[in-house]
Amino acid sequence: MGLAAIISEQDPTGEFRHMIHDEVDKWVDRIIDEVFVDGKEPTVMELSQLFSETKQKFFGACFQALIEQKYAGLLEQEYAPCPQCGKMCKKRRGNLKEMVTMQGPSVLKRPWFYCVDCSYGFSPLDKTLEISRKKYQFDVQQKSTKTTAEVPFSTGSELFFNLTDHAVSDHFMHDTFEDVGAYASLEDVIPNREEIAGRCQEVTEGSWRPVLVVASDGAHVPTRPKAKRNEKRGKGRWQEAKGFRIYLLGKDRIEHVASWHQIQNEEQFGEDLSFVASQIPQDDLRIGLLGDGADWLWKHMVACFPKGRQILDYYHCAEHIHKVAKLQYGEGSQKCLEWVESTITRLFYAEVNNVIWGLERMKPGDSLVKEEIRKLIGYLHNNRERIHYQGDRIGGYPIGSGGIESANKFISHTRMKRSGAWWVKETGNEMLGIRCAIYNGTYDKVFEKYKKDQMSL
Ligand SMILES: [Zn+2]
Repeated sequence: MGLAAIISEQDPTGEFRHMIHDEVDKWVDRIIDEVFVDGKEPTVMELSQLFSETKQKFFGACFQALIEQKYAGLLEQEYAPCPQCGKMCKKRRGNLKEMVTMQGPSVLKRPWFYCVDCSYGFSPLDKTLEISRKKYQFDVQQKSTKTTAEVPFSTGSELFFNLTDHAVSDHFMHDTFEDVGAYASLEDVIPNREEIAGRCQEVTEGSWRPVLVVASDGAHVPTRPKAKRNEKRGKGRWQEAKGFRIYLLGKDRIEHVASWHQIQNEEQFGEDLSFVASQIPQDDLRIGLLGDGADWLWKHMVACFPKGRQILDYYHCAEHIHKVAKLQYGEGSQKCLEWVESTITRLFYAEVNNVIWGLERMKPGDSLVKEEIRKLIGYLHNNRERIHYQGDRIGGYPIGSGGIESANKFISHTRMKRSGAWWVKETGNEMLGIRCAIYNGTYDKVFEKYKKDQMSL
């Protein structure tokens, strides 16, 4: 009986300790050869680089040793029941599984079973350890997907290598992103009912009833049709990503509830908003609806949150005023500033009719101004019931959708509108879904679901 066997009988962790010591020795040998050479004086940076280059092999081997010890039983298994019919199957062959985790590369020689009745191959070890069929394991997949949600795939691959020393190709990152992205469905990206109720509870203080703000907006995203390999890409076009951000205004803080943006039509937007509305305990909240003048958006917000107070976004409104002032009085002129100031003040005090009356009596300088004035009158007329900023202020409602604007910028623009980026609608929506999940704090849940399905393949 060898020494290792004696030790392992006495102490199950003893052999593992020995295996690790062996790996340490191998690593030390590698380091010694590089460092302790006559005349060599490596700097901190050079030493750190040496560690970066050698640690993966070292840790990967330690990782492998740990699994070999911990799961020795499964690795030596001769018979296993078929997961589908329960029939006992004999081991077919030792199957090498090469895998890479965040710790480095490992190889496992594990038994493989095949049920003839079900035509089904399986490895019990893979199930227990949740080993991915891909070479790069779920820990790498989870981090790489999160990385590519922030930066383009090629940059992501470079960045990942720079920061982790793992060479993961942009191709792998892209494919994995699409696989995970398929799980970024509305139901999982939005926090569940209990989670939302918890967030509402957190901002409720005494008799203070928080305001639930629902802000909707559209943003244009560059899209292109899906092309087969070797096929010429079709012509691109801009499509609207419609989305909403829902947050709670507490006494002295903002609590995010949910964001959701998708390249989709109005009906789908309405269905999605309606689903989220059904997850929110609306009775105990005051509700403020914020948007620009777009009709489609109001139709659905009002249907989903019938008791919501409708508020025309102050900044969108002010933009329209500025446009007319610039054309009529010249940008930056005293008259221009005065008119903007007085008009906005009137609107602040809900004197919409007054402003419309004044616009109707304005003498337009040319046909262009005339047209803009006509449009502004229509805009104010359509939204007159939503302009009451002073009242909103007093009630603690927001008047500007800075919330949705920044969410749009953060979720959509920063990743979707990079120069040269054109999105196939499906991939674009997966990207938006994953980014919303990260923002909503549900990314891990989405990834778990993906992982679970991968394991049951
Ligand atoms: Zn079977």
